[in-house]
Order: sequence, then C-alpha cells, then structure tokens
Amino acid sequence: MTTAGSTAGEQVRLKQISKQTLLRLNDIGLMPDQYEQLNKFRQLHQGLFIISGPARSGITTTLYALLKNHDAFINSINSLEKRTAADLPNVTQNVFSPSDTGTMTFAKQLQTVVRMGPDIVGVGDCEDAETAQVACAAAKDGKMVYVTLNADSVVQALGKWMKLVGSRSLVTETLLGVSNQRLLRKLCNECKQAYAPNKELFKKYNIAAEKVKALYRVGKVIYDKRGKPTPCENCQETGFVGRTGIFEMIILNDDLRQAIKQSKLLSEISSEFRRAKMLYLQEQGLRKVINGTTAINEMLRVLAPPKKQPEKTPQEKTE
Ligand SMILES: [Zn+2]
Repeated sequence: MTTAGSTAGEQVRLKQISKQTLLRLNDIGLMPDQYEQLNKFRQLHQGLFIISGPARSGITTTLYALLKNHDAFINSINSLEKRTAADLPNVTQNVFSPSDTGTMTFAKQLQTVVRMGPDIVGVGDCEDAETAQVACAAAKDGKMVYVTLNADSVVQALGKWMKLVGSRSLVTETLLGVSNQRLLRKLCNECKQAYAPNKELFKKYNIAAEKVKALYRVGKVIYDKRGKPTPCENCQETGFVGRTGIFEMIILNDDLRQAIKQSKLLSEISSEFRRAKMLYLQEQGLRKVINGTTAINEMLRVLAPPKKQPEKTPQEKTE
C-alpha cells in the first residue's frame, strides 16, 4: 500500500502482489500460438528476449512467468531488479543497491550477477546503454537473458534497444524476439451480457461478421420479482473480475534479423514484422473481445493513446 498526501486529501494505492505476480506462463493471457512460441524458450541456452510495455502493464509479471518457466532444478536462475514485486521460489533475486560513493551502477551489479555463471538471467528495467550492453554480452556468452523495457509497441521497444546497445550486429546476433503488452479487465462471467453488435463496428475493426454471432458487455442491473435490484456478488456490480494481458509479439527468424541489420528506418522493420504476420495490440485485443473475455469499450479504453495535455474547456469534445 502506498499513500501520499495531496491538496484534495490523501491518495491511496493498493497493489495485490500475492497472486498477480506469480502467474504461470499459460495464465498471463497469451494466445495459444504465442504461448507455444515462448514455451520453446525452455529449451534454449542462449539469446535475449525483450518484454516491453508502458508502466503498470504487467511486464514484471511476464518476466517472472518466463523465468519460472525454466526448470529451476537443472538451471541456475538469477534476476537483477531495482525492487522485487514478489518472492520467486528457486530464483536468486538480486536487488540493486547503489553504493554510497556512487561507484556501483546497475550495469556493474549486473556484471557481477553474470560472473556468478547463471544459466538464465532476468533484468528488470534495462534502461541504460551500459546495462543493455552487459545483457547482450551475456546473451552472446551462452546465457538466456530476459529484459524488461518501457515502450508502447514492439517496434518502439526495438528502436530503443538498438539505440541502447549501439551495435546492430550485436542486437541481431543475440535477439530472439520482442513482446509488448497491456492489461485488460476481464468481464464477469456471472453477469456479462451478450449483444449483437452493429455492422458498422464489424467494418471498422475488420471483423468477419459471419463468424461472430455476439459480443459481450458489462451486465445491466438485474431486478428481482419485487423490483429490487440484485447486485452481482461475483463482481460487486463492477462488471469485471480480474485482468489479463494482451500481447503484440515477434519472434525473429533469419530473414527478420537480416531486415533489422539492413533497414535504415524503423518503419521498414515494422513492415517486415507485419509481413511476418505480427498482429498489432488492437488486433490481439479484438481476439479477446470476440472470444468474450473482455468488452470492446475496455479494449478501447486501454489502447487509447495517453492524453498529452488536459482539455482547455470542459465543453470541448475528446477524440
Ligand atoms: Zn458480475
């Protein structure tokens, strides 16, 4: 729990960490095809995977799920984090502790962790050049490395990573893939309501109308025989229970590595990813709207671009 005083009183933030952060790889919301791809990393002994997303999008949960997916009895699994979100059984979690003199940096401490000779390394907040280079060197040197990075899309994360590492050949030599994610609230299964969406909506989002009979939305208040509203106990009338991730993801093959090496612009790499059938976050979100996990409004809320500045007048319409 975090609290902070403000002119309006006090702001309180509650964070449930017991279940959320210890989910298994098949519980974080990956689509079956994505799960299959990431589960293959269990067999790999070297390479680097980037887990990206904006703040509070669940990237630490994904990092933990990927670390835990390796067999801890035959691998030495280590992490370096600025702060831990949960205790991971059988994983050696190192917390960054800057020295008083300022000589210990995150990168230097990562170097120390790597020297201990782990098989798998997780790096939380790999946000500076030196750390990124140490992570790449470890991946080249026969370690499986997972890093988290703050970014809004797969391509943005890759662009940031190339800048940090500073060498395209080192990036392409070690990089296995990139993911980017958001968290969506899941509709309450007890009270969600099916509805027939209009055709315009199907057209707008390029959904095959003949395949989708109904979408789901938050349930309306239910009245009993006496006309008294009966609240849904499962979701306390919020309409949602729990959250799930949606993932934009690319796993690199030799052609894509070549494209990353040679492309002058990020947009060229982006179109190569598209050609390799990478679905964007919105398309992944729609898959969960179509299968009834979430509501379309929830998807649009989560994927709305962050507001750049407050509205000038209350009358002004928001886009
Ligand atoms: Zn409910």
